[in-house]
Amino acid sequence: MMGGKDMMRIVRGIPMTADEFVDEWFESDVVKAAIASLGIHGLTLGVYGAGTGYTLMHNWANRGGLSHVAVQGGIGKISESLASAVKSFGGEICTNAEVKQIVIKDMRATGVVLSIGEEISASNVISAADPKHTFLSLVGAMELPPEFVWNVQSIKMRGSVAKVHLLTDGKHGIPDGTVALAPSIKYLEKAYDAAKYHSISEKPYLEVTTSGKVVSIHFQFAAYALNGRKLLLHLDTNRRTPELWNEKREVLADIAVKTLAEYFPALNSSIVARHIITPLDLEQTYGLTEGDLNHGQIMLDQFMFMRPIPGWSNHKTPIDNLYLCGSGVHGGGSQRGKRTECSEDSEVGN
Ligand SMILES: Cc1cc2nc3c(=O)[nH]c(=O)nc-3n(C[C@H](O)[C@H](O)[C@H](O)COP(=O)(O)OP(=O)(O)OC[C@H]3O[C@@H](n4cnc5c(N)ncnc54)[C@H](O)[C@@H]3O)c2cc1C
Repeated sequence: MMGGKDMMRIVRGIPMTADEFVDEWFESDVVKAAIASLGIHGLTLGVYGAGTGYTLMHNWANRGGLSHVAVQGGIGKISESLASAVKSFGGEICTNAEVKQIVIKDMRATGVVLSIGEEISASNVISAADPKHTFLSLVGAMELPPEFVWNVQSIKMRGSVAKVHLLTDGKHGIPDGTVALAPSIKYLEKAYDAAKYHSISEKPYLEVTTSGKVVSIHFQFAAYALNGRKLLLHLDTNRRTPELWNEKREVLADIAVKTLAEYFPALNSSIVARHIITPLDLEQTYGLTEGDLNHGQIMLDQFMFMRPIPGWSNHKTPIDNLYLCGSGVHGGGSQRGKRTECSEDSEVGN
């Protein structure tokens, strides 16, 4: 519906690097970096990475830019409104109810088993957990066609985002709203180098959201698989990562504060308490496999009709009555805006 000219510009921009993309439009390195930074937000790629032209467009279009819009009454109001809508239709909501298994009988989902042992039967099961967690842990490889399992195992989850929340006395000097600490294109690319070598950036790209006394720092890059070796086996890294992250937790927060304090020196003496969320915490506390914010990297071989895997972008799964929603499917993640409609007869999604 965009017309040939605009569509051509989009198709041309998709495989470009974020650097090349902004270079065509802007002269100032500071402006280029601020705009390009969103192209690598949540992604384990640098601004010189092919395909970050696509994520640049995706993230700007879906997030509406860098700033985080304040929700009247606090962000929790969104969940509360959704919950009351469900209840108004007679729905029941269970929280603190971890699903341990999706029950499958003859290739058909019949319900779920909670970690406390309770079984809930259902005519349809819709999972918003990420595709790897849903298929490999909750359904189980034995229930699925081998080629499908192989495709799911191949989904790239590469979290490298950490969060540092600071409670301050309010005298930090940082303006309310969003500040992107991305001084140059080269700075962003160098920050990414750390993720490439499975470590923590000494000079990270930070996206800082401030509201009164609370300063929330989005930190890139901090590799989920903290070790000097290439990530080969998911299970293998799981054995080594927890100990390493426990050692590095405070180191990460120190780097975040030191980097930010270079621009806002009053921050140091203003801090009252800090809460650190490592990529491992994102996995263990929030259920995000490998701490990947988007339930799978948003990259060219994992987007649109190939999300979560080729041929399965329309929310259906090989198991009848089991559907996948959430960021791992086409449209996500970081999708604040309207999602594309899916039609019943579309085999490879929209
Ligand atoms: C640090 C961080 C920064 C981000 N920044 C932005 C941003 O600036 N802008 C933006 O648009 N997006 C951002 N995102 C991404 C955004 O949060 C996601 O796109 C969005 O939350 C996806 O929603 P979802 O419902 O698909 O998945 P989720 O929000 O991940 O919800 C999945 C739910 O399933 C639950 N779950 C998982 N396994 C089980 C189980 N076995 N049993 C029961 N429950 C289970 C989880 O606890 C979770 O509540 C960010 C994410 C993170 C983590």
